Amino acid sequence: MAYSMLVPPWLESLLSTDFFSVCRIHGDAARSECNMYCLDCNGTAAFCFYCRSSRHKDHSVIQVGLYFLIFFLTLL
Ligand SMILES: [Zn+2]
Ligand SMILES: [Zn+2]
Repeated sequence: MAYSMLVPPWLESLLSTDFFSVCRIHGDAARSECNMYCLDCNGTAAFCFYCRSSRHKDHSVIQVGLYFLIFFLTLL
């Protein structure tokens, strides 16, 4: 059987999402960088830590990080 890599459907829209911009709602707060993405609300834009706790509390949220130019995803 040939090995095939399955790309999850949300990955494509995740990669076209603009991350690391400042949240329009929480721009004054300390953790207002938009580095989170919700798998349950597919197609939504990236959002910040505060948006997550108010709008995506019980959702599957991925956190996007850049660490020494390595792009990583953390499933929260
Ligand atoms: Zn926000
Ligand atoms: Zn959500």
